[in-house]
Order: sequence, then C-alpha cells, then structure tokens
Amino acid sequence: MYPSIHINLEKYRHNLNYLHHLSKEHGQSVMVVTKVFCADRKLIDVINTTAIEYIADSKIENLKKIKTEKMKVLLRIPQLSQVNEVVKYSDLSLNSELKVIEALDLAAKNINQKHRILLMFDIGDLREGIFYKSDYLPMISKILTLEHIELFGIGTNLTCFGGVIPTAETLNKLQIIKEDIEKHFSISLNMISGGNSSAIQMLKDEKLPSFINNLRIGEAFVLGRETAYGKQIENMFDDVFTLKAEIVELKEKPSMPEGLLGFDAFGKPANFTDRGNMNRAILGIGRQDVDCENLIDGPDTNILGCSSDHLIVELKTNQYAVGNVLTFKLTYAGILRLMTSPYVRRVYENNL
Ligand SMILES: *Cc1c(COP(=O)(O)O)cnc(C)c1O
Repeated sequence: MYPSIHINLEKYRHNLNYLHHLSKEHGQSVMVVTKVFCADRKLIDVINTTAIEYIADSKIENLKKIKTEKMKVLLRIPQLSQVNEVVKYSDLSLNSELKVIEALDLAAKNINQKHRILLMFDIGDLREGIFYKSDYLPMISKILTLEHIELFGIGTNLTCFGGVIPTAETLNKLQIIKEDIEKHFSISLNMISGGNSSAIQMLKDEKLPSFINNLRIGEAFVLGRETAYGKQIENMFDDVFTLKAEIVELKEKPSMPEGLLGFDAFGKPANFTDRGNMNRAILGIGRQDVDCENLIDGPDTNILGCSSDHLIVELKTNQYAVGNVLTFKLTYAGILRLMTSPYVRRVYENNL
C-alpha cells in the first residue's frame, strides 16, 4: 500500500554520529530535535545508540512518549495550561515569560522537584525570546529567587522566522547578555545554546564563538544540510527519508487545459504554458498528506501540481506503467507533513 515514507535508520545513525562528533570536537554538546518526525519510536531508538546528550521536541506529548536515558528538552515556550506536564516530562524547557516560569516553579514545587530552564533571547530573528535590547535583569533577578527553578543557561534561535543568518556580529549580542548576567549576579551559566542547523557552517569554518557550548539540531540530521546557506554537508546523507507513491493513471495528454480558465481547487488562478502533449501520471497522494512543492524531482519526473488527493507528474521517459511506484526525495516541510499524516505508511529500512 502506498503512499509510504521510507526511513533509512542506518543513514540516520550515520548523520547523527558524524555531526555529533564534529560538534564535540568544537566543544558543543548537542540536542537532537525530533519534532519533524513526531518523535517516531524507531528513530528515538537510533538516537539512543549514540552519545548525543539531549533529545529535544516542541511538543510535550512527544516528550511524554519518548523512552530514553537522555535528558529531555521542551523547545517551544510552555503553555500556561501545560506546566504540570512540562515539569513532569521534561528535564529542561526553553522559556521567555516570567508568568510561565513562575507557574513552572509552582508545578515543580507540587511534585517536589527542581525544573531547569534556558532563558531565550531574541537577537534579531523575531521569533521567541526576550528582545536583547530590553531590560532583562529585573526578570532574571526574580527568576533567581524561585526555589524550584534552576536557571541552567540562556539560548537564542536564528534563521527561523526572520531568516537572520548567524554571524560573529549577531552572536556577539548573546555574548554580551551572558557576560552581563554572570557579572551582575555573580553566577556562571552552564549552557549557552547558540543555534540550530543554521550554525553549522560557522562551526565548520571554525568561526562559531567559543562562549556557545550547545547546538539544537533537527534538519541537518535528517537532510544532511545546513540551513544558513542551504548547502549540503559532505559525508552526510540527504535521503534518510524518501517518499514512494503509486501511479494510478498514466496517459498522454496536452500540457494546456482546454476551455475557459478560472481557478484551481485551492483558489489559485490557472497559469499554464503550452508545451504540447506529454506523458502525464497521476499518483495516489495529495495535499492532505504533503504539499507537492515539498517533493524533489528526480531525473525522470517533473512535478506539475497537486490537489487534495492527486499528484500530477510529467514523466520524461516511457518506461513507467500504471501500478509502478515513483520515489521522491523530500524537503524538511515534506518530511514534517508526511510523518504527521495518518495516511502515510512508515517503512523502516536497514534496521540496526
Ligand atoms: C525546531 C527547533 C530547532 C531545530 O532547528 P533545525 O533548523 O531543524 O536544526 C532548534 N531550536 C528550536 C527552539 C526549535 O524550535
């Protein structure tokens, strides 16, 4: 039965070990981010075979089900409505709101525990975090009085919303904050979590400032690419995940629709160029499972578009027939959608 997403466990293990080794050489501990594959059990088992220090996810539901000896980290700022689960199922959470941190303190007190937090700073990407120019010392002063909260460190997130690429100049803003906090309160922060897959180019170029001692990596492990410039990392696999979908119709048809043209099924105006007749295949997968923009063409295919449940592809050779299966490499968003769809079967290859 198709569609199916094929997960090569050995390639994932290779990517994990390769990049973890590189990070450790440069003094960085690593959080492996599992949200893109919904913390799939088999992939968690692969992570458990490595020496990577932390497993991180944005959903507490995922952290709850993960079986591991490693430290669990909640990436998304906790919702006030879930603080009890957060202190129970995560060892460390990323935070930016005093109100939430106070609620975490109370929740931790109730179960007689201490909860670790990383305080996030926004140094320009405009996603989560205390804006670096604001007066953050009063907030930290309050946090340090909370008996069931441990300020484990600080962190920042780049190249997520604003597309800001990590540079020495940008990361210096975080260094100033670190030094300011340590000096003002006479404390030393354990963890400075300075980046995600967009920090890897700096790491490889030996340019990642040494005050940063932790990276949170998702995409590079699954796709073997850094995300500041979108470059493939040598010796890493880009095809840990691939999609297989079946041809349900294959006909020679024109490239131009015929008749008065309005809008497609998703409200976009019809826009076609006439390239004569072509071999057109329809595959049994659609936008309900994945956006066709997130599938990558191979040498034989030219993806034309998709509707809710049909993917339409031009085939550049005559070697296919109805019932054949096509394989596609995927983008990050493609893996995310396919792993979230209950209609896509998961097939594990190269079991360890
Ligand atoms: C998802 C996420 C990451 C991982 O980013 P990648 O670009 O996939 O490496 C890191 N940090 C936070 C806070 C995240 O939400």
